[in-house]
Amino acid sequence: MGRESHQLHIFFFPFMAPGHTIPMIDMAKLFAMRGCKSTLLATPHDEPTFLKSIAKPQDSGFDIDVITVTLPLKDVGLPEDCDNPSKITTEEMFKQFLRAVMMLDGQLKLLIEKLAPDCLISDAFLPWTTEIAVKCGIPRLIFHGTSAFSSACTECLTLYEPHKKVLCDSEPFVIPNFPGEITLSRMQLPDFFREETEITKFYNEVRESEKRSFGVIVNSFYKLEPAYAEHYSTFLGKRSWFIGPLSLCNKEVEDKAHRGNQPSIDQHDCLKWLDSKQPNSVIYICFGSIANLNAAQLHEIAVGLESSGQQFIWVVKKDPSVEEGKEEWLPDGYESRMRNKGLIIRGWAPQALILDHEAIGGFVTHCGWNSILEAVTVGVPLVTWPVAAEQFYNEKLVNQVLKIGINIGVKRWVNLFGDSVKRERVEEAVKRVLVGEEAEEMRRRTKALAEMARGAVEEGGSSWSDLGALIQELKSHKLARTKRI
Ligand code: UDP
Repeated sequence: MGRESHQLHIFFFPFMAPGHTIPMIDMAKLFAMRGCKSTLLATPHDEPTFLKSIAKPQDSGFDIDVITVTLPLKDVGLPEDCDNPSKITTEEMFKQFLRAVMMLDGQLKLLIEKLAPDCLISDAFLPWTTEIAVKCGIPRLIFHGTSAFSSACTECLTLYEPHKKVLCDSEPFVIPNFPGEITLSRMQLPDFFREETEITKFYNEVRESEKRSFGVIVNSFYKLEPAYAEHYSTFLGKRSWFIGPLSLCNKEVEDKAHRGNQPSIDQHDCLKWLDSKQPNSVIYICFGSIANLNAAQLHEIAVGLESSGQQFIWVVKKDPSVEEGKEEWLPDGYESRMRNKGLIIRGWAPQALILDHEAIGGFVTHCGWNSILEAVTVGVPLVTWPVAAEQFYNEKLVNQVLKIGINIGVKRWVNLFGDSVKRERVEEAVKRVLVGEEAEEMRRRTKALAEMARGAVEEGGSSWSDLGALIQELKSHKLARTKRI
């Protein structure tokens, strides 16, 4: 598409992990549905998943496509199959992976020169893309992939450093200049806040790149977190557009079933199982695409679920070296005892589809932002079990501000491998979120938010309007640039 065209051409460049690629693909679809040409950048590993996700919008005539960039893994000392974060098992490997990602700068520049997009929307984890966009004379928008609450929280912690003014890791502190008297402890912060590491430097680069970018796209909607949306844009001065929940662009069963990886269960079998259950009678348990729990913790969950007497769908990471049903964490005879009560999905679950089913009454989540938002959009209350990243902040939003969840009681940020939670806590939390007056009250509140979410993305809603305003602004920018050339 040449510069003379009125159609906006946008490059979408996600970080290579499902929690980042899934909402970015939804975003590319959304822009295409609003008349833009969307080009997604993918690694060869991700390309098939991306192509599958955009097949339907392509068939419907929307202008959306995928092009590939290749990670120079060998150059950073990583094996060829380490082309996505699920293969990254140590911090050293993550640093190597980030280095390989950074080396995509040349490929990105060539692609921008060749295909002449009008704008680059790239993941916050790709801070170096600001420089390339500036060199190529196009605006770069950042996608953090989390709530305004969490982005503002990170910013206030960085600006005011309350965690450096407490005596020990467990001493609580209130986040300064942040609405709602939100309390955290140092134990709940990412480790790069607690000690200077290479990752601290990386996060500083992310912040610096943000200052020189066109603005921030937020996968959220105004009414979900009005005080924090205001705080983010007015107090912290971030130019931002709230255009979510992005997942709501997936309207049909097929769209919901095929987000991210290939599901490890047939969608029809899964729906048939759920159809046989009463409304709000099943708990869904999933820790997202990255977090891992050890065998002892999985065992506690298994026992806790059984003694809760509640029905469940539980997503467990697949260990290809162990035969199904023979995992060391699985109590003897568990799956035959649970035959009608519980479904264990080993691998990838069609989460959006499951959450949308009326039988699901609660969700035990690691508090990844996509998962929280997906639950909010379908009115499912939460049991919060944060593990790493910004998940402890999201937990505060869910329980303290929105009051749509209860915490399982973890207190410590633990990079990828969860804190230990006893079976009694699992049993109690599952019962509390599914049955009783408290559960009903949380469900009422979450359902009201789900209504608001749908209203936000409908024509005339706040997210619809914010997206329209952004597209208009980018078009004006394009026009001004074209005149200069
Ligand atoms: N997801 C899924 N099936 C799974 C695990 C995850 O569909 O078995 C999707 C989930 O719906 C969400 C994303 O993967 O869209 C995970 O993102 P989130 O921010 O919740 O967590 P992360 O994986 O980034 O920690």
